[in-house]
Amino acid sequence: MGNRTACAVPSLGTIINVLENLYPARLAEDWDRNGLICGNLEARVERILIALDPVKETVDEALNSDSQLLLTHHPLYLRGTSFVPASDPKGNLIHRLIRGGCALFNAHTNADSAAEGVATALASRLELERVVPLVPSGDSTHPGLGRVGYLRYEMTLREFANIVAKFLPAGPNGVLIGGNLEDTVFRVAVSGGSGDSFLTTAREAGADVYVTADLRHHPALEHLQGGKPYLINASHWATESVWCDLARDSISRELSNLGYEVEIEVSAKCTEPWDLWLPTTESE
Ligand SMILES: [Zn+2]
Repeated sequence: MGNRTACAVPSLGTIINVLENLYPARLAEDWDRNGLICGNLEARVERILIALDPVKETVDEALNSDSQLLLTHHPLYLRGTSFVPASDPKGNLIHRLIRGGCALFNAHTNADSAAEGVATALASRLELERVVPLVPSGDSTHPGLGRVGYLRYEMTLREFANIVAKFLPAGPNGVLIGGNLEDTVFRVAVSGGSGDSFLTTAREAGADVYVTADLRHHPALEHLQGGKPYLINASHWATESVWCDLARDSISRELSNLGYEVEIEVSAKCTEPWDLWLPTTESE
């Protein structure tokens, strides 16, 4: 115990061990990139900022708040890089983070699948019950991608869409709804972020409605020709950023179990690319 009290501030290496237990690398998709993008394992971390995207706005926020770790969901270099010049927007972030003593670590599809990951956060935000993974991972501890479960009671698609709009964080996109608004829904599939690829899976899972983001015209239109599940197309950022709050609680609990105390904040920035939504009207 004496040792623990003396080391109340953990090293980056210690925090990364915690992150790797919560979001194991083995859960990641083959095409993905996850882990420590920049940072020194021996550095002490007193403050962590959690955000969805590693972009100028969240790096500013991390540096201005004296954070020593910026944890993001999305990778900085999904397709790799050979160059990090300060003249490049991403290279500039690397330069500024290193200069400011702030590490950058990301957990993407491994955090999607994890027991305390994105899918769990989204399903619990929408208060789904009897939840199972949409795409099971085969892992004994971590369920897999997406979730399918039940609402507490049957309601119309319109009523449920209003709940989704009310429960997701405020952003410029809002939600788009496809389907018979007065039809009843009960079984719900969810997948945070781009959900095109699980349209068929959600149908096979017997869902009445599928909540996801980034649905494109052709896949969505063709899907709805076959009936349910109806579609609720929300924002990529909103459906995934619900994970940040859960991550704060998980990391804080694990570090405190190890005897460490770290200040953990969730970014207040909405990092959707869009800033304004307008209806089109073609008025004269
Ligand atoms: Zn995403």
